[in-house]
Amino acid sequence: MNFFSTNKKLGILGGGQLGKMLLYSTRKWDIRTFVLDPNYEAPAKLACDVFIQGDLTDYQTVLDFGKKVDILTIEIENINIKALYKLKKEGVKIFPQPEIIEIIQNKSSQKEFYIKNNIPTSNYKSFSNLETLKNAIAKGSLSFPFVWKASEMGYDGYGVSVIKKNKDLENLLDCDCIAEDFVPFKNELSVIIARREQGETQAYPVVEMEFHPTANQVEYVICPARISSEIKLRAKKIALEVSKKYKHIGLLAVEMFLTETGEILVNEVAPRPHNSGHLTIESSYTNQFEQHIRAILNLPLGDSGNKVSGVMVNLVGKENHNGPVVYKNIDQILAINGVTPHIYGKKQTRPFRKMGHVSIVNKSLDKARQIAEEVKSIIEVISE
Ligand code: ADP
Repeated sequence: MNFFSTNKKLGILGGGQLGKMLLYSTRKWDIRTFVLDPNYEAPAKLACDVFIQGDLTDYQTVLDFGKKVDILTIEIENINIKALYKLKKEGVKIFPQPEIIEIIQNKSSQKEFYIKNNIPTSNYKSFSNLETLKNAIAKGSLSFPFVWKASEMGYDGYGVSVIKKNKDLENLLDCDCIAEDFVPFKNELSVIIARREQGETQAYPVVEMEFHPTANQVEYVICPARISSEIKLRAKKIALEVSKKYKHIGLLAVEMFLTETGEILVNEVAPRPHNSGHLTIESSYTNQFEQHIRAILNLPLGDSGNKVSGVMVNLVGKENHNGPVVYKNIDQILAINGVTPHIYGKKQTRPFRKMGHVSIVNKSLDKARQIAEEVKSIIEVISE
């Protein structure tokens, strides 16, 4: 199927920043795109050919949208899965495949997948509600500390809580959940794998993620990770193994923990472009968004190697600021060499909402990390 300057249509479920950045590549190649998102002011709206406002979790809405396009991809996993199966049956190509999205939508089934496929991951137990979890603690079959995760709809750290004592149980949602062994990790790593139909893969360099201590969101992504080449090789090998087991088409971001004893455990995956790959726009020969398009259209994959090292800073809404957004001091960071801000176009800011990111590239990774801290202290995402 030829999508270049033809009438073939690529549909994207979700119109957030990932969708918007995917569209940089479809624009470059004159690929016709349709986007579905519930938000009338979705970031991807401006860059697609046809924008449809609608609920991504509604069966009929997703079905109707899917029938308009030749190939369908996602930028968010929280999609009506039944509609995807129906569309697949009717011949619409969907990448990532619905079977993979279904596994990933539920943290319990995702964990089960790793255990079944001998992928190293922390131990866990599933619970249908909070009551059964509390009973397990009372009986002694579950002990502190553990990490509580809502089975469904967790996103960016909401629905995840480290539980160290009984009091920590008080504010948890009463829902289907898992309790994972708490992993005392030294580092969080991510590897993005691109895979096309015949199984050809490309692995991006291992990146290291530094998290915001309270918001549980990535604060810096450092590429390449400052770890030994032996650990890098192992992390890549595990990510490729996960990719092989899922048999995904498109990107798969594999998030891992490097433990204090040097073990690598898979935390979770995302079958789409990922926050940990934003830096590739400036640092790689082929950025993750173009690579995803190449993979799902069954085109030769590009070189995922780094042209230059760098650090990515998420621009999140400042605490206590709600309302129309203002990017303060953005001109000052633009004056620093190697600094490129990306503004997603969300009109309203909220505390810790992802509003944009800044890429910092430099021949010296240490210098890039230093500039990243400077950038973080200068720019402010506040309300009017
Ligand atoms: P989400 O789907 O919301 O991104 P994650 O499963 O990635 O949730 O968890 C969010 C963060 O919580 C992780 O990046 C990590 O910092 C921490 N975390 C998750 N699982 C564990 C664990 N088993 N042990 C220690 N920390 C964890």
